[in-house]
Amino acid sequence: MKGNELKTRTVLLVLALMVPLIAEPPARPVLGVDRGYINTAASPCRDFYCYANGTFDKVAIPGEYASYGVNQEIDERNFTILKGILESSARTSGSKGTIAQRVGDFYASGLDEALIEKEGLQPLAPLFAAIQAVKTPADLLAGLGRLHALGIPAGFGFGVQVDDKDSSAMIASFSQGGLGLPERDYYLRPGQEAETTRQAYEQHVARIFTLAGEDAEAARAGARTVMLLETKLAQASRTLVDLRDPQANYHKVARKDLAALAPLDWNAYFSAVALPAGEAHVLVGQPEFYKALGGLLGSEPMDAWRLYLRWHVLRAAAPFLGSAFVNENFAFYAKTLSGATELRPRWKRVLAAADRALGEDLGQLFVKTAFSPAAKARALEMVHFHKEAMRARILAADWMVDATKTQALKKLDTMRSKVGYPDRWRDYSGLQVARRPYVLNVQAAATFEFRRRLAKLGRPVDRDEWFMTPQTNNAYYDPSLNEMCFPAGILQPPFFDAKADDASNYGALASTIGHELTHGFDDQGRQYDWQGNLKDWWTAEDARRFEARAHQIVKQYDAFEVLPGLPINGKLTLGENIADIGGLRVSYEAFRLATKGRDPKAVDGFTPDQRFFLAFAQGWRTNQRPEALRMQVTTDVHAPVRWRVLGPVADFPEFRKAFGCEAAPAGQAPTAIW
Ligand SMILES: [Zn+2]
Repeated sequence: MKGNELKTRTVLLVLALMVPLIAEPPARPVLGVDRGYINTAASPCRDFYCYANGTFDKVAIPGEYASYGVNQEIDERNFTILKGILESSARTSGSKGTIAQRVGDFYASGLDEALIEKEGLQPLAPLFAAIQAVKTPADLLAGLGRLHALGIPAGFGFGVQVDDKDSSAMIASFSQGGLGLPERDYYLRPGQEAETTRQAYEQHVARIFTLAGEDAEAARAGARTVMLLETKLAQASRTLVDLRDPQANYHKVARKDLAALAPLDWNAYFSAVALPAGEAHVLVGQPEFYKALGGLLGSEPMDAWRLYLRWHVLRAAAPFLGSAFVNENFAFYAKTLSGATELRPRWKRVLAAADRALGEDLGQLFVKTAFSPAAKARALEMVHFHKEAMRARILAADWMVDATKTQALKKLDTMRSKVGYPDRWRDYSGLQVARRPYVLNVQAAATFEFRRRLAKLGRPVDRDEWFMTPQTNNAYYDPSLNEMCFPAGILQPPFFDAKADDASNYGALASTIGHELTHGFDDQGRQYDWQGNLKDWWTAEDARRFEARAHQIVKQYDAFEVLPGLPINGKLTLGENIADIGGLRVSYEAFRLATKGRDPKAVDGFTPDQRFFLAFAQGWRTNQRPEALRMQVTTDVHAPVRWRVLGPVADFPEFRKAFGCEAAPAGQAPTAIW
């Protein structure tokens, strides 16, 4: 639900690659819309993505990327800033317990390949010993709890969240999980391509077991066992489409009644994760998964479960171990699954881990150089105009009665916006980071984070917390908190430039500000009220009319074919598509409000409206490998980039007018809700 928005730029790299392709290189730095990418031979009416980005498809995807485009250009620039911060921290290594010490020592440990190779699997020895000691289902639950507290996913999902039906309280929550492949369909779907991926996965598990010291035959047998066990977990799992229904995935049960679902000694798990005794209730997202898990924990041989645990420890640790593990992990998870051909440079991998481990420590240093007060003020003003535009959309919705509109406006008025970076920084002083084996720093940070979340139970909901780090090139809407968050990392050129014209800023941020705002009113978001409770505030008739419109959007996207025989899943991507379509509309109206009476001028020969739509479409320019496209279509709630442009402009009269396109055929069903 947090809208992981694929958004993101190394200007230098792209410009260098683009040089031979640009007939007339821009005479001044490009703000917002870049003429160089426009394919004037294409028709903006027939394929606007191709018109706006047509020359970009000649830009090669660097080997380390599965996809390369505007998001990666921004990422690369953010990475360069963060690298400078990490390197200078590692050089100076401040006194113990300071930000510079934590950040610097973490980075140094990640770069210390000699120590990583020398230690090998030694840092994991206590975990492997504990796994060998697992003899009963209760031991197994305790073992899973121990892994979860180290940030190692296995068996099922466990976390702490806002209670969907009581947004003033935090609650422990259990969900389906435990798979090594991206999701259930990878285990179950028929066809040669799926079968090949499954074989590659099993061979990968076997190679990892071999690297961990098994002989070839035992490794092969172990991998087979893991595959069979995970397939059983997959069979008990819901599809991604079924997971999108918040009511159907909400089951509050008494803590003691968990055993009624899965007859096991859950106290063994609770004590392993140190769940506070006062927590009388828990959420179980998918009860039937726990029924099946209860059966499997009792029926499958303990040998099989020990192998399974061992595999998941190795799988989670592989990126932080020696080069043999790193390369094997890359070969399957990046190369086979998403088509990348080269391992990312070590510094970037360590940077990503530091971002997860010490995100707000890094963020404090990042925003000093990358996000000015002027940028924050301009972004806040843009959010203001977006909310005003949404207000007008709600008031103008002829399919909603006043009672529903009143509730929708209340939700809009109380929706909070977080921009740039948190007002209060997270305190990592309880986390010990040292120059020691890298994987131990990674685990210490994961445990610190696990305990931090667990400590939220029984306390008031922290409304000032951020769920993305300030340097993240992404944004979210959180329905339980009824808030949007736009980190400094995404408010970067070309999405946003405090010096750029309104047309390009509003156009490029349609997929961010307009999009996140609309999430509050998509098919999931609309089920939460202004206080963030999963509670119906719609009249039955208005809900029916919303569903009928949503159904049009499902049909519109179902008809988009990404690769031969691989259409977009309209139901899986519905919430994102509603947010894309509504986002463009809301941002367009916000742009109109922001420039009212100012009469913006044409720039570079494009009218303000043309620049708005071009900036929007160029904000999605991306080249993707077929493997990555396939994985996205099967696992991602977002449609691939081309259709994130084509879908929203399909039913947009002002777009047609701006580019002199014929009017849409009469009788065509509208695909816009907002
Ligand atoms: Zn989204």
